[in-house]
Amino acid sequence: MDALREQVAVGCRILGFEDQGDFVWGHVSARDPEGRGVWMKASGLGFDEIGSDDVILVSWDGEVLEGAGRRHLEYPIHTELIRARPDAGSVVHTHAPWAVAFASIEQPLRPLSHEGTLFVPPDIARFTKTGDLILTRELGEALAATVGDRNAALMAHHGIVTCGEDVPTAVMTAVFLERACRANLRAGAAGGPKTWSSDEEALAKREHVYSPRMAWDYLARRLDAPTREGNVRPPA
Ligand SMILES: [Zn+2]
Repeated sequence: MDALREQVAVGCRILGFEDQGDFVWGHVSARDPEGRGVWMKASGLGFDEIGSDDVILVSWDGEVLEGAGRRHLEYPIHTELIRARPDAGSVVHTHAPWAVAFASIEQPLRPLSHEGTLFVPPDIARFTKTGDLILTRELGEALAATVGDRNAALMAHHGIVTCGEDVPTAVMTAVFLERACRANLRAGAAGGPKTWSSDEEALAKREHVYSPRMAWDYLARRLDAPTREGNVRPPA
């Protein structure tokens, strides 16, 4: 279990490095291999501060079963998506700033860069039932239904949710989604995109352009740069 907790912690630090932290909000989780619930970042800490001791086991009902930290209120995002998706080993929820801004303009996400092809076609899924916190099992189930069998959804007025077979995949999917939204907003600000991948090109690219694992390893190496003790983000 130590390796899994460490992987969740590294995922948190990568998201912090990628500017997806919202002070102490946002979380990464991994399915407990013993079926007790999810190993999840503890509350009250920023992504960049997380070590493996700050990853706690949260039961399907939100009880902390192992670990010393407090659990996030929005744990149903994780428990319900993991419950609904037998193929998902990890879930990420952040308040990714470019994605939040992009969701507000209600434009289709265009695959105008490599990253976009991971999410469209069809257009990115959007959860619009509420922009409030996901505090209940019912809302968690509704969010999971929006994600369906896909890898991500925008959460209007709130953030993003992603999932993947393992922690590196779910975390890198969050990184790629934020970058795809940023590219769309930049193009929009410059007069609007005029060209992007056809559905055929996008689907072909999806198969081979990105290896989440290679990108994860690169970002993990950057975190491990011996700039300060404890793998915190190096000074800008
Ligand atoms: Zn949230």
